[in-house]
Amino acid sequence: STVVVGSYVHDHVWLTDRFPETGETRRALGFSTGPGGKGFNQAVACRRQGGEVVFIGALGDDALAQAARAFAEQEGLDCRWQICTGTPTAAASIVVDADGANRILVNLAANELLEVDFLQAHVASFSGARVLLAQLENSLDTVRAALALGRRHGLVTLLNPAPVHADIDAGLLALCDLITPNELEFALLLERISGEKVDHSGLATQADEQLHALCRRLDVGSVVITLGAAGCFVSHGAGARFEAGSHYRIPAERVRAIDTVGAGDAFNGALAAALADPEAGTFRDAVVHANRVAALSTEKIGASLAMPTLSEVHDRFGA
Ligand code: ADP
Repeated sequence: STVVVGSYVHDHVWLTDRFPETGETRRALGFSTGPGGKGFNQAVACRRQGGEVVFIGALGDDALAQAARAFAEQEGLDCRWQICTGTPTAAASIVVDADGANRILVNLAANELLEVDFLQAHVASFSGARVLLAQLENSLDTVRAALALGRRHGLVTLLNPAPVHADIDAGLLALCDLITPNELEFALLLERISGEKVDHSGLATQADEQLHALCRRLDVGSVVITLGAAGCFVSHGAGARFEAGSHYRIPAERVRAIDTVGAGDAFNGALAAALADPEAGTFRDAVVHANRVAALSTEKIGASLAMPTLSEVHDRFGA
């Protein structure tokens, strides 16, 4: 099973022909709400791929918290919620224009108050689990504690370093078996950890050897860089838990992408599910699967609710 420690955000998605100007009130072309937050999205993606999931997160004491519980129940997600009285449940406004460009405001609220003590109180969830999955929408101390607990219990520690955080340090990365930055996050991490500046938009076209060498500077056993429509790049160090010393690319699946919001979340949830499956194949098989799930997620609008199921993946790509 997988333990996901992460954020819950109630998304409000507005469709518009164009973004309103300052002081302008425009009529939206459409509106919907749904569960989001990188942590919760990844937990739902993992669950929909057949993974057993425990999600540990924080909510306010309000109506949005009730909605969160209802969503989680529908998905069969086993959740441990820290309830923060006097703080709202996190919410976001996501405005999408006719070109699919978006502008987002998020109030992380309760997510920033998820406490190390709360994780400690639920440490029983870590025993017998195989993968610990975290992101950076909680406080760094909490993320650090989650990774340390995962490591202490022998889980594969997987950090999706998103949104990238200026205070991330080598000590935090040292707790990770595997990290999954996108191009921008990779470039910022590299600069933060090794001082090296690279142009993130040129990463997808770099030679594999060079990309592998850059990955190795982060000193994390395994690095998977997600490259959007170019798929992903995998780099394992000599001491990695998986496929030690190797590196390779997996090209993206061809799909009719209409909304890439949540593609990274689909990728991470599916990767965790595959790595946690006792009957799973190789690490490469797990990445191929994650790449398929992420591609399918771009064919639907929305975050958690757009996550494909295992049967949808089998229908499209075969079992
Ligand atoms: P993020 O959403 O975190 O920015 P990426 O844009 O790198 O992450 O996308 C994550 C993964 O989603 C990619 O590695 C790929 O597997 C898949 N993906 C993203 N965009 C597309 C696309 N246009 N076609 C197919 N797969 C895609």
